Amino acid sequence: PAQLTLFPAGPAGAAEASTPGRPAARRYLRTELEDWVFQFDHARRTLCEHFQLHSLEGLGLAGHHGAVAAAGAILYYLRDTQKASLQHLDRPVFFRQRDHMVLDSVTVRNLELLEPLFGGPREYTLLHVLDQTATAMGARLLRQWLLKPAIEGAEIEARLDAVEELKKETILRAELGRDLAKVLDIERLLARVTLGTATPRDLVALGTSLTGIPLLRAFVGRLRSGRLCDLHGRMDELGDVSSAILTTLTDEPPANPADGGVIRAGFDPALDELRELQHNSRSFILQIEQRERARTGIQSLKVRFNNVFGYYIEISKPNLRLAPSDYERKQTLVNAERFTTLELKEYERKVLDAQERILVIEREHLEKLRQRVAGEAARVRRTAAAVAELDVYLALAHVAADCNYARPVFNSTGEMQVVAGRHPVIERLAESERAERFIPNDLYLNDSTDLIAVITGPNMGGKSTYLRQAALIAILAQMGSFVPASSARLPILDRIFTRIGASDNLALGRSTFMVEMTETAQILNTATPASLIILDEVGRGTATFDGLAIAWAVVEYIHQRTRAKTLFATHYHELTELAELLSGVRNLHVSVKEAGEQIIFLRKVEPGSADRSYGIEVARLAGLPLPVIERAHDVLVRHEEREHSVSEELSPGAHPSQISIFTPLPPGMVEQIRSINLDELRPIEALNLLADLKKGLG
Ligand code: ADP
Ligand code: MG
Repeated sequence: PAQLTLFPAGPAGAAEASTPGRPAARRYLRTELEDWVFQFDHARRTLCEHFQLHSLEGLGLAGHHGAVAAAGAILYYLRDTQKASLQHLDRPVFFRQRDHMVLDSVTVRNLELLEPLFGGPREYTLLHVLDQTATAMGARLLRQWLLKPAIEGAEIEARLDAVEELKKETILRAELGRDLAKVLDIERLLARVTLGTATPRDLVALGTSLTGIPLLRAFVGRLRSGRLCDLHGRMDELGDVSSAILTTLTDEPPANPADGGVIRAGFDPALDELRELQHNSRSFILQIEQRERARTGIQSLKVRFNNVFGYYIEISKPNLRLAPSDYERKQTLVNAERFTTLELKEYERKVLDAQERILVIEREHLEKLRQRVAGEAARVRRTAAAVAELDVYLALAHVAADCNYARPVFNSTGEMQVVAGRHPVIERLAESERAERFIPNDLYLNDSTDLIAVITGPNMGGKSTYLRQAALIAILAQMGSFVPASSARLPILDRIFTRIGASDNLALGRSTFMVEMTETAQILNTATPASLIILDEVGRGTATFDGLAIAWAVVEYIHQRTRAKTLFATHYHELTELAELLSGVRNLHVSVKEAGEQIIFLRKVEPGSADRSYGIEVARLAGLPLPVIERAHDVLVRHEEREHSVSEELSPGAHPSQISIFTPLPPGMVEQIRSINLDELRPIEALNLLADLKKGLG
């Protein structure tokens, strides 16, 4: 049978908190439905009926049988399980992946858009930096935009215009933010209303939130950009809905309608009368008590009420003989006896009846109100969507202003030029943690001469950061945000791919090299000339030469066939030779300053390849024991003497080199060489020394 896989309805965070690719963290509910539910005819009928349509063409679903079947099956499932009106559902729209910039799940994870990679603090994500939204609805929409950046120039520019205008309107922006913060999650509240699960408190929360809309709308009315005017038009003040709610319900109703006190005084005279009766009971009882005390002469006689026995007259044991004969025995206590009378019984019935009637009437009014509000679901939802969108523009404007972002400019020449770009997350961390200042870097790529950049340089030099910041800037720009750079001219990208070499990925505990290659295969098979590919140390998960060979071939393939803009950070120095062989490949390196045997990371990305990899210097910084560092030096020197360049290897007639770097030197020779003072060595001495050394090697 066909299967429908659904997330649990439970705590909203549960499904969202897990990452794709980490299935263990997810809890699925799988519901199997019969085949006929998925049949086109059935699905079409279900959809047309529910949304009251003659055909599905208006929804853009014509010809998309699979999509109709899926939508119909979901609707069927919801009806079957919710057993409630589904008036809060929007009409389905046909969604195509290519209508947005595509970010696959690996990329979303590698770029730390929603979650930090290795389970670090939540602040280490782009979402966290951007999420200055004031409402839950805005936060959800922001997240959607982040995962599906736009791809249409007009849409992106419309968003950017809105952000730009709000960025300039500092005071208005602050006012809007304050008012938005008072708006609760209208969408969720409304969904509860139409599903019939809304408590009276939910309704009051909805009503109160809606009272803020006219003011918001008036503020938006002062703005000029096309998209914001459009939002003004889409916002419905909904005064009728909010006043219906707020004139019907009390300000602070109980969560449970059965507790009573839901409907506002003055709303229904019949209800007020019944309540009057209830409230007057205390004085009525006092009256009876005084009268009966006088009649019986028992000063301690009490008239009381409790939930189990209702109204009663209590007389203490010593006074029992004074009880009149019309008292009816009800309950015996240790020190007292409780009675009732005809009069009390009648009064009790009246009060209890009143209480019941009150609850019935309240429930009726509540239900009527619920239906009334549910009937306006479409209007409320449209407004909620407009509020959410406004909230996102405001958030993006806040970030742009606070973090000094620039408006990106799009071109169709395929050029990607970022001046003084920054990594939006790391620059914030650097600020807040007073760590080293973030160093901005430029980037230039195009479709011809600068298609692929190979980035080398020491570990910890800033390669991965540079790569990711390029991708993040492109994503920000296409979602409609300003970008962390002093200027950015960008092409519109259709996809961004990010792959990290296997060894960097070990923390996820996946079978590394196979995964790395599968992911690389997917990139080479799907990337287009409008894509951006980020390869970080790909080829690492296998033996050195295999890895280098694969990396080499991948760059050649991208250069010849895929033609996607590519940033490739690598520790394979040999890859820098590609720049001489292929016209579209450039070398970049992260710069360092050498100070004696130490190095200082400058974090500046510069043209050309790194002159060496500085691995041993980095190892020294990391505190490796000195003998290890020294021995590594020796091994490296010997290895480099024998190394061939890959282009030599690739030339016809090349012999694979036999590398045996571990032949030990005769004892003392390293020290002997090290102690040579070249400044004082005369040519003849040098020749003699060389002869000695050679002899020493046998
Ligand atoms: P690599 O990939 O070359 O090993 P990373 O990109 O992982 O280096 O960066 C190493 C460290 O340097 C990170 O902790 C990062 O915060 C910091 N860093 C990277 N780029 C910059 C920069 N431009 N300015 C300041 N700090 C940076
Ligand atoms: Mg790195």
